[in-house]
Amino acid sequence: MSLNLRIPGPMPLPPDVLEATGRPMINHRGPEFAEIINRMTRNMKTLLETSGDVYFMTSSGTGAMETAIVNVLSPGDAVLSVSIGVFGDRFGDIAETYGAEVTRLKTELGEAAEPKAVSEALSGIPDCKAVLLTHNDTSTAVQNDIAALSEVIRSESKALILVDAVSSAGGSPLAVDAWGLDMVATASQKAWMAGPGIGIIAVSKRAWAAHETSTMPKFYFDIAQYQKFLDIGQPPFTPALSTIYGLDLALQQLADEGIENVISRHAERAEQTRRGVQRIGLELFCDVSVASDTVTAIKVPDGVDAKAVVARMRDEYEVEISGGQGPLAGKIWRIGHMGWCEPEHIDDCIDVLEKVLAELK
Ligand code: PMP
Repeated sequence: MSLNLRIPGPMPLPPDVLEATGRPMINHRGPEFAEIINRMTRNMKTLLETSGDVYFMTSSGTGAMETAIVNVLSPGDAVLSVSIGVFGDRFGDIAETYGAEVTRLKTELGEAAEPKAVSEALSGIPDCKAVLLTHNDTSTAVQNDIAALSEVIRSESKALILVDAVSSAGGSPLAVDAWGLDMVATASQKAWMAGPGIGIIAVSKRAWAAHETSTMPKFYFDIAQYQKFLDIGQPPFTPALSTIYGLDLALQQLADEGIENVISRHAERAEQTRRGVQRIGLELFCDVSVASDTVTAIKVPDGVDAKAVVARMRDEYEVEISGGQGPLAGKIWRIGHMGWCEPEHIDDCIDVLEKVLAELK
């Protein structure tokens, strides 16, 4: 087996998607590209369960998060940033960088955000313009209940709901319209079975209304440019065509599979991973009730050198997992199981982890 890449993104590509990325370049202002972008847009709307707008930017996921912020906010706007980890902190940082007045609500690492705590924080912020949420914080492998959080935010305020769904969309339930989400950011290299390079943003009607009065600086990420060009089947700027070829094929396959099946496949793989981890005597980092469908975090046992395990798995057995980020470095390992992930990928990963732990004892 070639490298079993089990970090939480980028993920391995199915062979046919990988092959598609090697296709010759085309004119991104020609009819063939128009067909591709229109098909991708249609499929992505179906998969995100939205009749709103969806745009593809050549950027990573962080670019999509920045798109969410700069298109609906103005400097001085009050924003509530709900963070359950590294990526939640980043969302707040982007808003602050562009001049928003950010109030931060942070949970203990390993916990999800409580609707009650969000409601209390909101009541202390008059004229809160937006709430920033992370669906799945890849740094802790904790998944927020976005439907429940959205419900309290919508019932108690007029705040827009901006969601970082970079590592959840296409793997976990995410009903953009039914849940009343305004800007939802995701990225090609996570559950979408494609390579890195394309940021994706879903935009609601309320977000478009906010765009009219938003004064944060924007040029490359201005959604008005993306809409204007989509109308003529083009991107505003030269896109990462190779990634787009792969993403187009992957989205078609996911749409054919059906979003319910895609989601239950992810839930099965997550369950398989958690069971495997526990079978070899390791402990999960967070409670199963908030555990992610796309990545699993494992506690590093006392006395074990987390980095040495990762290195030996990679160098001796061609299985690569991730360590922890920031304060969780050395304390957890993370296994990615989003996108193209077969049951044998997980079995191989758990077997190798068990073997290496025994060897390093
Ligand atoms: N948010 C989440 C939840 C992520 O997992 C990541 C990537 N790990 C990002 C944002 C940032 O995405 P990118 O590295 O593509 O900019």
